[in-house]
Amino acid sequence: MTVETPAPSPATPLPGDRRSSRHKVVVIGSGFGGLWATEALRKAPVDVVMISGTSHHLFQPLLYQVATGVLSEGEVAPATREVLKKQRNATVLLGRVTEIDIAAKIVTSVSPLGTTVTPYDTLIVAAGAGQSYFGNDQFSEFAPGMKSIDDALELRGRIFGCFELAELCEDPQEQEEWLTFVVVGAGPTGVEMAGQISELAHRTLRRDFRRIDTTKAKIILLDAAPAVLGAFGDKLSAAARDQLQKIGVDVELNAKVVGVDNTGVDIVDADGNERRIPCRCKVWAAGVSASPLGKQLAEQSGGEVDRAGRVRVNEDLTLPGHPEIFVVGDMMALNNLPGVAQVAMQGGKYAAGQIVRRLRGEPPAPPFKYFDKGSMATISRFHAVASVGKIRMAGFFAWLMWLGVHVMYLVGFKNRFTTMLHWAVSFIFRGRSQRTTTRQQIVARTLMARLSAAEEALEAAEQKNSEAREPSAPVAASDAGADLRPEPVEGRSSGSAGLNSHADTTGSDSVDELAAAYGENIDQPGDAAPLKQAPES
Ligand SMILES: Cc1cc2nc3c(=O)[nH]c(=O)nc-3n(C[C@H](O)[C@H](O)[C@H](O)COP(=O)(O)OP(=O)(O)OC[C@H]3O[C@@H](n4cnc5c(N)ncnc54)[C@H](O)[C@@H]3O)c2cc1C
Repeated sequence: MTVETPAPSPATPLPGDRRSSRHKVVVIGSGFGGLWATEALRKAPVDVVMISGTSHHLFQPLLYQVATGVLSEGEVAPATREVLKKQRNATVLLGRVTEIDIAAKIVTSVSPLGTTVTPYDTLIVAAGAGQSYFGNDQFSEFAPGMKSIDDALELRGRIFGCFELAELCEDPQEQEEWLTFVVVGAGPTGVEMAGQISELAHRTLRRDFRRIDTTKAKIILLDAAPAVLGAFGDKLSAAARDQLQKIGVDVELNAKVVGVDNTGVDIVDADGNERRIPCRCKVWAAGVSASPLGKQLAEQSGGEVDRAGRVRVNEDLTLPGHPEIFVVGDMMALNNLPGVAQVAMQGGKYAAGQIVRRLRGEPPAPPFKYFDKGSMATISRFHAVASVGKIRMAGFFAWLMWLGVHVMYLVGFKNRFTTMLHWAVSFIFRGRSQRTTTRQQIVARTLMARLSAAEEALEAAEQKNSEAREPSAPVAASDAGADLRPEPVEGRSSGSAGLNSHADTTGSDSVDELAAAYGENIDQPGDAAPLKQAPES
């Protein structure tokens, strides 16, 4: 297999961009904010172009169920294009937005085919947030976050992979490491994740292995804060902690993670004592940081971002000084509103409503007012906590409520139907319908990161070489790392220099081989090394 990176094409305006004289709304992001805004514009006399880095709409609240084999990725991430197929005024474009030029009113996005420039009359920015490691990005190699389908599938591979490798392992101490799962962050995602791993170990996988007792697995939920689900208040927080302990999750609070590597996590407790937890599987469910597009908007408009990188917006969700730009969802900072789906959906709809009013010449709507419909988190099957208005509930009825709300907000009848079927399989019986994992799922992110780093290093070396070859500064061919210079490879565009050259340095001509070569160094579940310890029988 040959992977080529095409040379970037000159910025190409989208065909048909200027054909229509209708008001043009560009929406960045196909998440809750972007999709709800686009759908709310379906009857408006506008052309909507939705540009998103992914071709799906992701229902993030159920990602942890993809990671733990309850649901398939398709059930929580329908193709956006399919969702919007009946909305004739909406066009969906795949592309990662790299630049918003608010003076020229254009958005630049990149895709494998090159660069696309899309002009707008009104812009709705809903690019959400990514995982934050609080300045310790090196943790991410060993502790994947939970923000995308890729993350969930990688985690699925790691979680199920750890049980497999524990079964193979003969050293009891190492076996214990494979059977120790650490989840960092005791917010809803961390709690749900820990609860599901515990159910896997204690219920689903109990009879599947011969050499290990999966019920002996340790599931540890860590947080630097003093409470589980702190935002739910003391009563529900205590109820959640009790239930977690009942289902076999060790909760360690006031525990700050200061180190993460392949074989463990280092923590500092409230008394300042440092301790190591040996474990192979780590999940990072703590901290978010808004899309860097927020910083770009703030810099160009003279605005501000908060500590999480969210852009401060006016009460009508517009960027200060730019009524033609709305920022909604996890990217916006307004009145301390939380980064939850309802804020994004309501914000998206509000922005669409304002656009329609403007086009009709009507006065603007009153400032955005968030209607808090409540919060919920599941702890285990048949047990959730819910905070709705003044009502605080923990237990079965809260779980039923959680079930109803999540089915209601899943996009598409087909997804709702199959999700309910899979929930029946997992919650009433003990099965998991989605236990398939592959080595590629587990190693791809790390390999891609290493390839990018190698590409960057190589580009820097090439740059150094070409500077050294400048006539003004003659350098002998053997000098200045000339041996790093890549050989030209026949039939490939100059744009692919990085990958080709990298392949050359390892003596491989394909990314597959390259991945295999790197894979030997990756000590992760699915790696070849532990297989050497397989029992002879
Ligand atoms: C694991 C998890 C569980 C959660 N559970 C809950 C819950 O139970 N209840 C709840 O209310 N909330 C929950 N949330 C939060 C909720 O999902 C978010 O608040 C919500 O998704 C925010 O919507 P958004 O539209 O702002 O961003 P997102 O839904 O994150 O959408 C962002 C979109 O922008 C696209 N994008 C990003 N960068 C670019 C770019 N440069 N160019 C083009 N496109 C780009 C992405 O591909 C994506 O389509 C959870 C979040 C996570 C991660």
